[in-house]
Amino acid sequence: MLALRLWSVRHARGLGRAYEVMAKFAPLLAPLARLIGMGRTEALLTPVERIVKSTLFDCRMCGQCVLSATGMSCPMNCAKEMRNGPCGGVRADGCCEVRPDLPCAWVEAGAGAKRIASDHLAHPTPLLPAIDQRRRGASSWIQVLQGQPDPAFQPPMGQRITPEPQQAALEAACNSGRFVVTVEVAPPDSPRPDALLARAGLFSGQVDAINITDGAGGNCHMSSVAASAILAAHGHVPVYQIACRDRNRIAIQGDMLGAAALGVRNILCLTGDDVSQGDHPQAKPVFDLDAVSLLHIARGMCDRGEYASGRKLQEAPDLFVGATANPFVPPYADRIANLEMKILAGARFIQTQFCFDLALFDDFMREVRQRGLHRRAHIIVGVGTLKSAKALDWMARHVPGVHIPRSLLARIEGARDQQREARRICIETIDALAQMDGVAGIHLMGHRNEGTLAEIITECDLRKRPRLHTV
Ligand code: SF4
Repeated sequence: MLALRLWSVRHARGLGRAYEVMAKFAPLLAPLARLIGMGRTEALLTPVERIVKSTLFDCRMCGQCVLSATGMSCPMNCAKEMRNGPCGGVRADGCCEVRPDLPCAWVEAGAGAKRIASDHLAHPTPLLPAIDQRRRGASSWIQVLQGQPDPAFQPPMGQRITPEPQQAALEAACNSGRFVVTVEVAPPDSPRPDALLARAGLFSGQVDAINITDGAGGNCHMSSVAASAILAAHGHVPVYQIACRDRNRIAIQGDMLGAAALGVRNILCLTGDDVSQGDHPQAKPVFDLDAVSLLHIARGMCDRGEYASGRKLQEAPDLFVGATANPFVPPYADRIANLEMKILAGARFIQTQFCFDLALFDDFMREVRQRGLHRRAHIIVGVGTLKSAKALDWMARHVPGVHIPRSLLARIEGARDQQREARRICIETIDALAQMDGVAGIHLMGHRNEGTLAEIITECDLRKRPRLHTV
């Protein structure tokens, strides 16, 4: 089956043409289908569609076929069922974060899409809506026959119709032209807020915002929304991270409203790491949404004052909405298209994965500037340090999406004081990023390493630095 699925991607152009012809002529059969009865026609079509598409594409009959937009690679073969991939966990060999024995369905989608339209950057994959769970098992061909609009498209949110909110503190910092500094803090494994406040306290007056992770790595901690609210109540500026892994769209929208009610003004939309890497690998992953569909929904709530269902809110929340990017994993050439899709879906700031490879990031930023993306969203680059080459090597091998060049590990390995050398590299990286046009700031990360991060911020005197562009 995998071989046939890969064959279909290799022949995406021919299959795409065949689909176009079918989509053009199928509505001519609609009168006949009405004569037979649409219900009966669908009952006849569904098993045929299932056999043909499961043979060619490993189709799962989601009922909203998007193959024409995904280079003939069925996104239901993505372990996170992402409709707008790839995720940031793709392995260096192009295989899946969750199923390392299989090629990433979205790397395949990118390859197939390029066969259909060679300039994939000029014809990026459209925003695909979150799946309608009611249609699972239903026929997509019946929709084509009825001439219904292609489900593989969701227009961007358009102009804001709700009143312009007051700028949140992080947004004001991003617009100030000053180098922005954010830091990541993991919530505690305790019902007491003291530990959280002690960690956050290390950064008082030193950073523009503190990200609160949401079950990072699939591990359980105090909820991100509660920890963010605690920080907001104590005068910090939290960024509430929302992973799609653990909650469906009803729970997430409720949490977003709840966070806003508790004084949280910034959210970061992530698809999330798979449960297999965390401390509850036996848990059921949800992935009702992916980061892009979550961004779209968040913007709908803020800009249109409505839920994903279209139902009106009594009052729209004021949220500064961000997303992540990972320029350091394959498919490198498609990472720009992925970033552009997130910005189109509504991201106003971007926080990247750890940058340990400046050359790779420089290439990425060149493309970002060429496409003017740094003027549409604030690019904040992830940096960090660990105690030794061994710890960094472990992270590179076990944390999805982290890439650390061998030369950098060798430099740390060869140093007499490995911790000091790793810290020096982090500071050099920050200095280089501060000189890079289009970089709005840095995002410091490091699990249980808050003390060192606070020292680095002080040593670099980061918040006094101007940056090389304004949005
Ligand atoms: S690497 Fe990520 S996007 Fe690709 S198939 Fe696996 S889970 Fe899906």
